Amino acid sequence: MESALAYAGLRRRDNAMGEDLEKLKQRLPLLEYLRQRNWSGRPARQGSEFVGLCPLHPETRPSFYVNARKNLFYCHGCGQGGDLIRFVELSQRLSFPQSLAYLQQQSAPAGAAGALERAASFYQRQLLRHPEALRYLEQRGVHDPALIEELRLGYAPGGNLRRHLTDQGYSLESLQRAGLVNPQGCDAFYRRVVLPCCQDRQVVNLYGRSIGAAFPHRFLPGPKGGLFAWESVCQFSTVILVEGPLDLAVLWQAGFRNATCTFGTHLTPFQFHQLSERPDRLVYIVFDQDENHSGQRAARPLARRLAGAGVTARLVQLPAGQDPNSYFVAGAAATDFAGCLQRVQAL
Ligand SMILES: [Zn+2]
Repeated sequence: MESALAYAGLRRRDNAMGEDLEKLKQRLPLLEYLRQRNWSGRPARQGSEFVGLCPLHPETRPSFYVNARKNLFYCHGCGQGGDLIRFVELSQRLSFPQSLAYLQQQSAPAGAAGALERAASFYQRQLLRHPEALRYLEQRGVHDPALIEELRLGYAPGGNLRRHLTDQGYSLESLQRAGLVNPQGCDAFYRRVVLPCCQDRQVVNLYGRSIGAAFPHRFLPGPKGGLFAWESVCQFSTVILVEGPLDLAVLWQAGFRNATCTFGTHLTPFQFHQLSERPDRLVYIVFDQDENHSGQRAARPLARRLAGAGVTARLVQLPAGQDPNSYFVAGAAATDFAGCLQRVQAL
């Protein structure tokens, strides 16, 4: 067929193209790009060919052919043809490098949320390959594989995320914007157990818990999102509020599925709003009983604020020096924790 011959002359350009260009074109096939821009082509005689009106010049009879298998176009009306990049050069009147930059932007998964989601999935896979991370979770009393999967717990060994995501087409700048890669170009998380923080089921941040000597708690820049797993916890009229995700993990493991965590002792206005949206709610605050009393210092004013919003709040005392995680790691059972809830302090 004539158009097939016309495509053949355009192959030279493909040979000169680097691997990056090939990847870009695979990620964003020409036909898909055109359809996203409302080009409607009907199947032509050959199976993988489509024909429609040419977007590059005015016409009434379709002469614009797209070969989906070869990822090339050719117009018998204006004589133009080529690949996706050529099409962008012609249709947007951009230079070759400008077209490339434009397409890289177009084909990147939407914004930082996409990068965070992919980072979370990548870290999940890493967890199973790093015994030191699984050992750490085991030491922190988290051993149920189904729970590890459900919480999307992962591990950042450090040094391999940037490469993984740039291979998927993310630019270094976009990874730096998302905070996944630091200004020096290194992965932000190094030897940390990682857990995604979500809002409206979208990953908005990652929490990283150091398994080594580094500062224990870290977030990426940006908001930490709402209360953890609030989509499921909000259905309970009684809620257990803890500081950290490892506290939450042992509570869920012990059957307290109404536990949520704030990622710290300070609630964001949004988290406070979530807790107080139901006035009939009872909130058990189980912050750390650590030596500097920061958890307890924060718990009391929070309980008063919640009471002010019409929510019943109770302060739960664990044995001295314990947080919910260490309490269970030290051997407490669900009944012991339930006992602590029963011995709550009213305000
Ligand atoms: Zn044309």
